[in-house]
Parts: sequence; C-alpha cells; structure tokens
Amino acid sequence: MADKKPCTLKEVWHQAGQRLINAGCEGGTFEAEVMLRTLLGWERSQFFLQLATIFPESLEQKLDGWIHARIEGVPLQHLTGQQEFYGRSFVVSPHVLIPRPDTEILVESILHQADSLSKRNSPLHFVDVGTGSGILAITLAAECPEWKVTAIDCSAEALMVAKINAERHGVGDRIQFLQGEWLMPLQASQQKVDMVVSNPPYIPSIEVEKLDGEVKDYEPRLALDGGEDGLNPYRILLQQIPQILRRPGYVAFEIGWDQGVAVTELVNALSCVKNTKVIPDLAGRDRVVTFSMTDC
Ligand code: GLN
Repeated sequence: MADKKPCTLKEVWHQAGQRLINAGCEGGTFEAEVMLRTLLGWERSQFFLQLATIFPESLEQKLDGWIHARIEGVPLQHLTGQQEFYGRSFVVSPHVLIPRPDTEILVESILHQADSLSKRNSPLHFVDVGTGSGILAITLAAECPEWKVTAIDCSAEALMVAKINAERHGVGDRIQFLQGEWLMPLQASQQKVDMVVSNPPYIPSIEVEKLDGEVKDYEPRLALDGGEDGLNPYRILLQQIPQILRRPGYVAFEIGWDQGVAVTELVNALSCVKNTKVIPDLAGRDRVVTFSMTDC
C-alpha cells in the first residue's frame, strides 16, 4: 500500500525538502519553504505560524513539477518568478541576471555617497547601466525619492522586466528607461548625470564555461560574459563616463572577486579621478569599486 500522503504544511515541507536534499540540492529545506510560500502567497511569519494547516491538494501538482524542475537544475527563481533584493521582491525571467545578495554592497556604497551629493541644490541624476531586472535603479529610486533615475539596457526583454518591477514598487513614473549599448543613449540625447552605477558582465569568457550549469545554462550570457579578461565593460564605461558625468560626480561598479587591482588601475588611468576605493563583500573578497571625478 502506498504511504499515506502528507497533508499538513509541515509534512509537505519536510517531504519536499528531503526530496531536494536527497537529489543533491544543499539548501533543500529553505528552497522547499520558498516554493511553498510562493504557492500559498504567504509571508515568512505566516508560514511558520500556520505549519499545522492542511496543504491544499490543488497545489500539489504544481509543487511536484517545481521539485522535478529544480532537481533538473532549473534555478529556484525561474520557478517562483521572483527574488528578494534589499528588502523588496523583484520579478525575474531568463532574460535577466538573478539578483545576488552581494550586489547589496553596491547599493550600500551608492546610498552612502548619495547622502553627500544630495547636499547640492539642483535635482540629481543617477544612471544604472545594464539594469537587467532593474534592482539598482528601482532600489535607488525608492530610497532616494528626490533623485532622477535613468535605467539603460541593451536588451528589450530585460527592460520589460525592469519596467514591471518599477511599477510593482511604485517608481515606474520616476525612471527613464532607455534601450541601447552602455551609456550611448545618454550620449545621444546629451544628458548628463551626477552618478553612474553598474553591475556589468564581468566574468572572463573562459570562466563562464566553468560556471555551475544552474547559472551557465539558465542565466543570460549577456549579463555574465565580460570578454576575454572580464574587464571589457569597465574599459567601455570608463571611456564614456567623462563625457556624461557632471563634476563632482560619483561612480560605483560591481566587480569580480579578483578584479580590485585591475579595475583600480583602469580607473586611475583616467584624469581627474579621486578617491578610488575597493570595497569588499561579507566574505572579504573584492566586490565594488567606487571613485569620484572632479574638475581638473
Ligand atoms: N556575480 C555573478 C556571478 O557570480 C556575476 C554577475 C556579473 O557578471 N555581473 O554569477
């Protein structure tokens, strides 16, 4: 006789977590919780308070499908369609990079700097280049309501995801979305900015091949591959920034864990650069480079 089907949320959670763990998915318990919360549309606190409730039979098939797909290697976020970033939930699709917690370090550095720039009188303009799902542009628009924000991406599909996220967080009408390569849309329209931020693709092409299947096979190569040495996006941006950045202006890039020295060298080869800093992530690895540009 078949085993009695689990029916409380707690039993379903335990069984789903075990299936994932047995298939080699280390974070199976947490992932099962995220799947169940997404299916039920519940916050974390509600989930833990209501573990004794009966799990609706109508959701069983969908849960089973998600577990199968996850075991096949599909990223959890492509199943649930979302990912948290800096306290907000963002829609993701296979057209955008899944937000990484490390990128919150970039937000922290920008917000820190935004405080000092905001002391100026004129409205300030901030651009997020390669916005993807829009996490940086939207977080900054939400956290700094007085800033004008521009989000650029070369991918029309990514911009669509970013626009959905901007509406979701009530900042759709405060962000200018532009499609194009790097900073070219701003150059073309002769707009200047006070701050440039970017989490560009920075993984060397050869390293992209070695990434986990979960990343390599499901996330857009466009958002990962930074060319032969991974530094091409910084070279392009550093060439364009002097033309569009008002002075004093501020720049913050996410970088790869071993790129602090190389990106600092590229930055310091520009004239009128001040205060180049490499900021580590929580694991102590290079994660962000920031610098200012002044009148020479
Ligand atoms: N941090 C991402 C990863 O390791 C890469 C993101 C990027 O290239 N901007 O998968």
